[in-house]
Order: sequence, then C-alpha cells, then structure tokens
Amino acid sequence: MIEFKNITKVFHTKSKDTKALDDVSLHVKKGTIFGVIGYSGAGKSTLIRMANLLEKPTKGQVLFNGNELTKMSRGNLNIARQKMGMIFQSFNLLKTGTVYENIAIPLKLTGVPKKEIKERVNKYLEIVGLLDKANAYPAQLSGGQKQRVAIARALAHEPEVLLCDEATSALDPDTTEAILALLSKINRELGITILLITHEMNVVQSICDEVAVMENGRIIEQGRVIDLFSQP
Ligand code: ADP
Ligand code: ADP
Repeated sequence: MIEFKNITKVFHTKSKDTKALDDVSLHVKKGTIFGVIGYSGAGKSTLIRMANLLEKPTKGQVLFNGNELTKMSRGNLNIARQKMGMIFQSFNLLKTGTVYENIAIPLKLTGVPKKEIKERVNKYLEIVGLLDKANAYPAQLSGGQKQRVAIARALAHEPEVLLCDEATSALDPDTTEAILALLSKINRELGITILLITHEMNVVQSICDEVAVMENGRIIEQGRVIDLFSQP
C-alpha cells in the first residue's frame, strides 16, 4: 500500500547538512499496522511526513497503491493525499470550533455535501465514543478525548491509511492504552491500514503487526513484531 524505496533525505541548513534518512526501504502492506520505532532524532518524523510528501525525498521513491507519488501531478497528489489521514501528538484541533465543527469544517472545504457531512460526523463520533461531546470545545476535553476527536476528523475523510505521528506520546498510560485499542479496532473493523511512529516499545508490542527500528536515519532491524519482540 505504501512503499518507500531507497529513500534518502538531506536537510541543508546554513551551518551543516543533516542526513535525516539514509537509504530507507519499507513496505506497509494493506490492512496491517506498521510501526516505526526509534529515539528522538532517528528520522521518524521525516519518514512519516514523506508518506504523503509533506517532505520530499532527496533520493528514492514513495509509492502509494503502486503509483509513484514523487511523479504525480499536483491534482493526482491531492487525490492520493485525501486517502491518507493523519493524527499528531499535539492533536492540532481548532480551539475556536466545537468538536462537531472540527470534523465538519475540513469536510466542507473538500466539497462534501452538507447532508453527508452531518452523517459522517455523527458516524465517526460514534465510532470514537464521543457523540455526546459534539457541542463541546477542545478546552473542555481531556487529552484522550481530544485525540479521539482528531481520529474522528481523520476518519471522516474515509481514508485508506491513517498516519499516526507519536499519537499517544502526550497521553498517560491508561489513556494511551485506550487510544491504542481504538486504533486497533479501526484497523480491524474499518480495514484501515496504519503507519505509526513512536519512541515507545509498548505501542509497538501492543498493536503493531510489523516494525522497523530506526537509528541515525537508517533502519537497523525490520520484521514481524512476533518474530522480533515476542513478549516473555
Ligand atoms: P525523529 O522524528 O525520529 O525525532 P526527525 O525526523 O525529526 O527525527 O529528525 C531527524 C534528523 O533530521 C534530526 O537530526 C533533525 O535535527 C533533522 N531535521 C529534521 N527536520 C529538519 C529540517 N527541517 N531542517 C534541518 N534538519 C532537520
Ligand atoms: P453553515 O454555517 O453552512 O450552516 P454549519 O457548520 O454551521 O454550516 O452547520 C452545518 C450543519 O451541521 C447544519 O445543518 C447544522 O445544523 C449542523 N450542526 C452543527 N452543529 C451540530 C451538532 N453539534 N450536532 C448536529 N448537527 C450540527
């Protein structure tokens, strides 16, 4: 579904060049949960941002459903991007909008008809368990609830893939577990493929099928979680 082929990314700044990714290849298969784990600075954010070309590779190719994103026209790239939802450590909700509006406004901007917007907002708020919070503002929600809104907002675009950028890093252990259970349910019941980055081993062990371990811009190990990190 998402394939990275020999990706290298060099950031040029005034003082130095940084090789954030060094010949990285991986294949996120349809229907799986793929985790990329590594310490801060390993290159994880750069990698996940490359899945939808928020970051462009210096060398190498990114394929989505077999098509090379790096060679697409702007129009086709936008269509492909709509099939990839994204959630973040900091939730990125609009403070001035209600939960309902946070999900509805982006749908409106992509031209979804009004009646369908209402249906989708309600459907996905129900899936994340927050239907009763539709009229609340983000400031009235806990961290876990905010992340649920962000997940509903991403799902409302009916993506094929969910990209999760340290989605549980700002949450306490119990809330983390609940959000991981939700992501796992979304994968199983909605058939959405998930690519996540994390620095927490428990995230990989509890929900990922496959894992890549990154260090200094390189993948140092890659495989099935049950083969690499079977629990004692
Ligand atoms: P991680 O997500 O694993 O913490 P990052 O992908 O954020 O790692 O960063 C990998 C390396 O690339 C780091 O050395 C970081 O400082 C550098 N880097 C990331 N983004 C930029 C940028 N926009 N400009 C310069 N260097 C960057
Ligand atoms: P507009 O300003 O174009 O009318 P809105 O975003 O205000 O668009 O509302 C879009 C639709 O969603 C309206 O029909 C509105 O009644 C409905 N709506 C807004 N908030 C809620 C909510 N919390 N629960 C259910 N429906 C809502």
